[in-house]
Amino acid sequence: MKIEEWVEGASSAAILGHIHPDGDCVGSCLGLRSYLRTVKPALRVQVYLEPFAGEFHFLTGADAVSPDFCEEKSYDVCFALDCSDRERLGDAVRYLDAAKRTVCVDHHITNEGFADVNVIRPQASSTSEVLAELMEPEKVDQATAECLYLGIVHDTGVFKHSNTSERTMQIAGALLAKGVSSSQIIDDTFYRKTFAQNRILGCALLAAELRLDGRLIASCVTGDDLARCGVTNRDLDGIIDQLRVTEGVEVAVFLYEAGAGEFKVSLRSNDLVDVSRIARSFGGGGHVKAAGCTASGACAEILERITALEADELRQES
Ligand code: 5GP
Ligand code: MN
Repeated sequence: MKIEEWVEGASSAAILGHIHPDGDCVGSCLGLRSYLRTVKPALRVQVYLEPFAGEFHFLTGADAVSPDFCEEKSYDVCFALDCSDRERLGDAVRYLDAAKRTVCVDHHITNEGFADVNVIRPQASSTSEVLAELMEPEKVDQATAECLYLGIVHDTGVFKHSNTSERTMQIAGALLAKGVSSSQIIDDTFYRKTFAQNRILGCALLAAELRLDGRLIASCVTGDDLARCGVTNRDLDGIIDQLRVTEGVEVAVFLYEAGAGEFKVSLRSNDLVDVSRIARSFGGGGHVKAAGCTASGACAEILERITALEADELRQES
């Protein structure tokens, strides 16, 4: 089924993404918004997302996103994008529950399909890639293309992660042909860091330690570290990737304090280990090589639990 069919007969649509929105989440939500406005101008479209990184604010429609999930509203169609389960929608789940028809578009292997219509393609690099496949190419304009291109760039780590397929490059090429400024998007939204972002990266690297004979690298930053560097959790993208490229490392773990006694955990694997299994055992999810969860307790104790699970996985693989 194509996007146009999902909004047939509808006069309003909501678009939701996951909590702590990343590039693919923001890109796919705003890309779908732009596309819907092109193919069905009479449709009222509202995007609901938590506040997201300033680098993404240049995208068309970013200023029309609502960060307020309190409003009681019912939409004819509700899209959940880049979200592996209902919990990841946060409080915006109310719009999913109140909608007449629900559609989930995603690429997470752990997604079991929680909407009326589910398009889940774990082989796709990103939700933006899945959406591009669902759109009529001639109806994708530059604004839509920029959003989707940004989403693909972020979830592939600039076309370098193993989720980057031949198809990914073909789709990215077709988006480029719409007039996307590739190097600007890559530099301005992926590589450029504020001074404060560099400081927290330095702090995380200094705190890093090797475990399991150097096959696991782990780092944790506390709420105090975040305050000292003047950053929020929106400034931590890229830290886990820097940990992952450490020579000899198979698995990287990054924790940051998200609340009192609560840590957000990012997991990355280079080759052997399925980190989505570990994330799932903590109630999280994700992909084979990139997953995450939230865990309660002291940082050291959470790390011990993860290390034990990783040790098991590595033993099975070797
Ligand atoms: P990140 O480490 O960049 O936050 O997340 C890596 C991947 O794991 C992403 O695809 C993200 O959707 C997924 N992920 C991260 N945290 C959670 C979580 O708490 N629950 C679930 N289900 N997936 C998560
Ligand atoms: Mn994604």
